[in-house]
Amino acid sequence: MPDKNTPLLRQQCLINGQWLISDTTFPVHNPANGELIAHVPKLGESATQSAIDAANAALPAWRAKSGKERSQILRRWFELIMQHQEDLAQLMTAEQGKPLTESRGEIAYAASFIEWFGEEAKRIYGDVMSHPNAGQRIMTLKQPIGVCAAITPWNFPAAMITRKVGPALAAGCTIIVKPASQTPLTALALGELAQQAGIPAGVLNIITGSGREIGDVLAASPIVRKISFTGSTETGRALMAACAPTIKKLSLELGGNAPFIVFADADLDAAVAGAIASKFRNAGQTCVCANRFLIASEVYDEFATKFTKAIGNLNVGYGDQSHTQIGPLIDTQAIEKVEAHIADALARGAHIRLGGARHALGGTFFTPTLLTEVPPAALINHEETFGPVAALVRFEHEAEAIALANNTEYGLAAYLYTRDLARTFRVAEAIEAGMVGINTGLISNEVAPFGGIKQSGMGREGSKYGIEEYSTLKYLCL
Ligand code: ADP
Repeated sequence: MPDKNTPLLRQQCLINGQWLISDTTFPVHNPANGELIAHVPKLGESATQSAIDAANAALPAWRAKSGKERSQILRRWFELIMQHQEDLAQLMTAEQGKPLTESRGEIAYAASFIEWFGEEAKRIYGDVMSHPNAGQRIMTLKQPIGVCAAITPWNFPAAMITRKVGPALAAGCTIIVKPASQTPLTALALGELAQQAGIPAGVLNIITGSGREIGDVLAASPIVRKISFTGSTETGRALMAACAPTIKKLSLELGGNAPFIVFADADLDAAVAGAIASKFRNAGQTCVCANRFLIASEVYDEFATKFTKAIGNLNVGYGDQSHTQIGPLIDTQAIEKVEAHIADALARGAHIRLGGARHALGGTFFTPTLLTEVPPAALINHEETFGPVAALVRFEHEAEAIALANNTEYGLAAYLYTRDLARTFRVAEAIEAGMVGINTGLISNEVAPFGGIKQSGMGREGSKYGIEEYSTLKYLCL
């Protein structure tokens, strides 16, 4: 439970530099014990419109600042986030459930986007091209795209916001953020620190309420020139359609079904360590979590034995207890999806090697689970599970592994473990994914381009490519 007196616990929304309440609110609960933490405003169409107007009014002055000025403000925000790392982490664990060590890590990760993009604000370059005719001169400018909106999910309540707001503000855009309704408090706390850092009124607005209602207003607005969304593929599709009439630029970071391939020549201990990190971080609730483990037949039994032991050692518990490695799932729907995937795999002939049921702690705690001999047709090999369930699939040769890996509508992350350099490149190039972890289960950081292909979305976040998403290219012909 966060300290009720912490100045970071905000129960109002931030529009045009003002903290606003509303007549209607909705509750925020701790997923670990159902406890009520706070109420936040349930804003609708008119408040969303006010936020859009505020962002639009703030745009000219923010856009006109030099990159260096924007950089200095973002640097102050970064420093404030890091100074309040512990308070923010406590708040995050209370509303999201993840272990405190992971919350602290996420705050540092979230802050790194503000630091990185603040530095990049000074380095936005256009070009001068060699001219085709002596009388012409040809050049390009990179300009901020304008008013942007970010719609973010509950699994990373801080980082999914800063990964969008950092590059937007650095590029000279203003923004409206709609955080997930399960985890608005971390977002609002970041807003409080943004105010303290001197981010001008209207440059960053944070509004809470129904995703569909607010999303529809943002999507329909001709003033909003770009929406960056992280969430389910289903919602991404709906949002893309809603943005079509205004031809809005979109970044979509959607679902995944990451394959984790272990070849016979892999270092199996390293593969098990990577598998644990990739599968069980945030209790399996990340879009880059390995969803299916494709294991070479020669090492299948040995990998399964080692993996079983490692999973069995994971501590399930409340996020605020120091030994906890696996917290609760976000809600009952999440646990029902996990159960459906397990039941489907078993009905198709898979075996339970470990776990398979709700945890003795009750609520939305689920026991880390290992399924073996999961047939390729099982739901878990095609849909995102978003829970602490690992599914092992056996393969005989490299071409089969690649075909299995690519047999999905998704294309976000993939992982492979091998010590053969030629195979590393062959497989990494053949895999249909936006990101490939090679002998590692952790790939996310601020300097790398994060994003997917196929129905996992479009656009990249983080890295020099992340800021491009918030700029437009203007061509000048003299
Ligand atoms: P998940 O809850 O699985 O992360 P969702 O796609 O349902 O994925 O939610 C992600 C974010 O999208 C949340 O902030 C949610 O409120 C918002 N959202 C939900 N439905 C819509 C919609 N129709 N239009 C825009 N945003 C939406």
